[in-house]
Amino acid sequence: MLRFKKSKKFKVLTLLLFTLLFLTGCVSSTSTAPNIAERVLNQENPVLRWGVKADTKLFGYYNIGEGEIEGFDVDIAKALTDVMTDGQGEVELIEVTSKTRIPLLLNGNIDGIIATMTISPERAEVVDFTDVYFDAGQSLLVPNDSHLNGLGDLTADDTVIAIKGSTSAQNIRDLAPQVTVIELENYSEGFVALQSGQGDALTTDNAILLGMISENNNYRLAGENFTEEPYGIAISPDQKEFLDQVNEALDTIQENGVYDEIYDKWFGEVLGGIE
Ligand code: GLU
Repeated sequence: MLRFKKSKKFKVLTLLLFTLLFLTGCVSSTSTAPNIAERVLNQENPVLRWGVKADTKLFGYYNIGEGEIEGFDVDIAKALTDVMTDGQGEVELIEVTSKTRIPLLLNGNIDGIIATMTISPERAEVVDFTDVYFDAGQSLLVPNDSHLNGLGDLTADDTVIAIKGSTSAQNIRDLAPQVTVIELENYSEGFVALQSGQGDALTTDNAILLGMISENNNYRLAGENFTEEPYGIAISPDQKEFLDQVNEALDTIQENGVYDEIYDKWFGEVLGGIE
């Protein structure tokens, strides 16, 4: 009886101890989330970890020849880091896809997402967004000889390829519910699937599709944009100070001409197609 009593007490104490450990663990993990803004201000050579695409030509794609990820978003990440750290900081580029970017941010694996990401009300419930830094709109990519010339031409016989975790996948289901939608992991897979005839069209933002056309001119845009896709940089909601720093840096590069240089570098040639 005594032994039983003792062991029960022991169990209760152990349970209490674990509960306490668990609670303190939880408290410390939220209250001591590393403050990125402080790292930027106080470290000598702070490293900023930006989530960028590696499959999206013109914004973030892996250049095999150079062995590097390049693109508009990548240059924006570098320019912002330079401004925020007075040229002392370093950029670490971490590959994200449309599906993985929010979890990676919320888990603390990256400091911010600069990856063709539309500011949407649903996403704004889980992440913070900076001001808009690029205006895109959703469109359709089709082979030059396609019967499709716009969203209105899509019928129940058409199959449209979209990418998981993108606004484009949701929008096409909402706006053309009659079509079959195939969702793939990333834009490289999507374009390969279109080229191998697995779909009649690939849908995402016009600027991303123009990047694909710049690689292969057997494809064209079908009609006008049918949504507005304003891009923002996503920051974790517990990093308000860092969000302010990024917004200020964005203002700086827009005022000092660096933004325009980067824009012209990546979109100068395809501008006619975007505007
Ligand atoms: N801008 C759209 C989005 O945020 C499509 C591009 C992408 O998949 O990143 O979902």
